[in-house]
Amino acid sequence: MSVRVRPPAPKKGFVCMCSNVECIFCRIIARTIPATIINETDTLIVIKDIAPSAPIHYLIIPKKHIVDLASFTAEDRETLASDIFACAQTLSQSDPDAKDFRLSVNNGYGAGQCVFHVHFHFLAGFNKK
Ligand code: AMP
Ligand code: ZN
Repeated sequence: MSVRVRPPAPKKGFVCMCSNVECIFCRIIARTIPATIINETDTLIVIKDIAPSAPIHYLIIPKKHIVDLASFTAEDRETLASDIFACAQTLSQSDPDAKDFRLSVNNGYGAGQCVFHVHFHFLAGFNKK
């Protein structure tokens, strides 16, 4: 059985700066650390999750550093929400094994969020051998 180790909960008032060298997803977006990139648009990057919990497990990550879904502004909702849904549809249509998929987000440490740069889990391939 694998055990996921979580980092300590961030201190109250914790703000991760955009392109902060300590933000792993900002570093992936900036190409300063490697990742398997599946797709990229002006606003999003899609990478393979390093510890997949389904046969297909991608992370849809807005390029803009936003700590979590609760921090979305009205403008983020307008621009990014539509891009994220379109991106999930494209991923689903690009692979027959991804026709049925789950799109999920962990918001906050208590809900299981480990990386404090908002991202959406695209999970599929549940019947894949
Ligand atoms: P969450 O628990 O919702 O914050 O999800 C964070 C996800 O990021 C986990 O599923 C991790 O396996 C994944 N992850 C962490 N570091 C990396 C990395 N360097 N490349 C790809 N995925 C990562
Ligand atoms: Zn970031």
